Amino acid sequence: MTEPDEDTPTVPIPRVSELVPSSVGSPSATGDPSRPTRRQTIIGVTAAGLAIVIAIVVGVLGAAWSGHRDLVRDYEAAAAKLSEARLAYEQADAELAESRGAVRGIAALIDPIAAMVGEPIPVAATEALVAARDEATVSVAPPPPPASYEVLPDEHPDALSDEALRAEAPRLTDAAERLGTATAYRARLASGAAALAAGLGTAFVEYTDAVAARGAELIAERADASAESRMALQSAIDALPGAETEDVEEIVASAVAAAADVIASSNRVRIDDAASITVVVNKHRPLNPIDYAPELVWADVPYGWEPEFRPEAAAALEEMFAAFEAETGEQLLAQSNYRSYDDQVFTYNSCIENLGYTQAERACARPGHSEHQTGLTADVAAVGWGCLIQECFGDTMPGQWLAENSWKYGFIVRYPDGYEHITGFAYEPWHMRYTGVEVTTDMHERGIMTLEEYYGLEPAPDYP
Ligand code: ZN
Repeated sequence: MTEPDEDTPTVPIPRVSELVPSSVGSPSATGDPSRPTRRQTIIGVTAAGLAIVIAIVVGVLGAAWSGHRDLVRDYEAAAAKLSEARLAYEQADAELAESRGAVRGIAALIDPIAAMVGEPIPVAATEALVAARDEATVSVAPPPPPASYEVLPDEHPDALSDEALRAEAPRLTDAAERLGTATAYRARLASGAAALAAGLGTAFVEYTDAVAARGAELIAERADASAESRMALQSAIDALPGAETEDVEEIVASAVAAAADVIASSNRVRIDDAASITVVVNKHRPLNPIDYAPELVWADVPYGWEPEFRPEAAAALEEMFAAFEAETGEQLLAQSNYRSYDDQVFTYNSCIENLGYTQAERACARPGHSEHQTGLTADVAAVGWGCLIQECFGDTMPGQWLAENSWKYGFIVRYPDGYEHITGFAYEPWHMRYTGVEVTTDMHERGIMTLEEYYGLEPAPDYP
């Protein structure tokens, strides 16, 4: 269709025919040429309405789209917080697991050694260790699992409806908060468990230190034990400090075994026993019972006072006296021998009367503290040499012979010169104590002069 005005010169008032397309207009059509046709009106109205509608639709849709984006953004922010919370939680959980692992690791080391008892393990050390272990392991009991840990939906937020986004975002925020609480709880537990692990480590070191210290004491106390067993114990306790490894059980076990050998090869177990030939009696160590009375026999030797002794001592004395006679052609004399508790009451009182209290305490044992009551002791003199029960006896040939040879027969000069600060008694070159050749030979070979030193006992200069 060709518009008529395209090839027609512009005129002030166009004709209707020119205004109406030929196909629709009719030559007879009339009307106000300035008035728009109905169709033109409809078209204009429609265009305006469409614009409004479009504007409304776009506005509505735009508003709807913008609301969706906000929801997605809220959702994503909540999800990000939850992810962060999960990371923090996982880190705290790992730290807790590590701390709990440390506690369990040390506790596992403790279990087997806590079962070991006896020397050189002090009972109190084991008790302290077990108490520390129990406290630590109870305190790090596993915490409850956190709620809402696996909460992120699989779908991408764009795929979720607004309704779902509105519901999910606060749920994620809530989950993040709850995880935060669980994280804080775990962090607190982890820090507590780390402190417990450290405390347990300290208790463990204190235990091994106590065992090592007791082992060292035992070695000193049982100086008479076999060198082999004492060395084995020494190497076990040397390995103890810092033995926070799986080896600790083995090391403690070897210390226990070595200590048992030390004790078994030592006579010290019998130094408390009044009936033992290795009993040690001094100002700190009365006989037990205090009125102990041994089985006695007469020794077949020259004597000044009834030569009553325990059978072992009597036989050894006879042997020693015979050896002296064989070597020197002279005779020893058993001057003062077994004295009962009651005899010693009399002797001690006489000492005080004759010497005065101070000198008597240096020279005469109180009742119950005298070696003469053991039946293992003789105050020896020599026929024709004088210095009877006097220090000068030590300068005589018989006195010197006894000092040099008595160990071969199981005797020692019990109160040697210069040892009063240990033995509690002044020099008595005549006072011979039988304690068996095993001990006296060992003392002789190691140059040990007193039973106190030999058995690692405290010096006993005075009565307590
Ligand atoms: Zn004596």
